[in-house]
Amino acid sequence: MHEFLSSNRTNVFETLRNASLMRQSFWDPDKKISLEYRGLELGGESGEAQNKLKKLAREAMGLRGSRSSRAEVAEELADVIIVADLIAGMLNIDLWSEVVKKFNKTSQENDLPVRITSGEV
Ligand SMILES: [Mg+2]
Repeated sequence: MHEFLSSNRTNVFETLRNASLMRQSFWDPDKKISLEYRGLELGGESGEAQNKLKKLAREAMGLRGSRSSRAEVAEELADVIIVADLIAGMLNIDLWSEVVKKFNKTSQENDLPVRITSGEV
């Protein structure tokens, strides 16, 4: 079994959550943004990432059309994570704990010897 210890959970996910909440206090001071809006936003950001990936694939196949870059894909994937955490925050979900649980569940279901361990999960 290969186990990966999550030791910097606070620095990554709690920093993102705290910064996002602070930014939202400026962006949406009247708290108008709904869960439905965030759901649409998540789909939009996922679609943007998919479009950038499509353009990379198109270039790899030598086909005509506009191009994208690894940096553009990275930016859209970051948007997906940011929005996913905003949604998790609205539903009082500890996203990192859920990532660990889901990762390990998938490993177990597929008999794969890799787990993430965290003292808080
Ligand atoms: Mg985007």
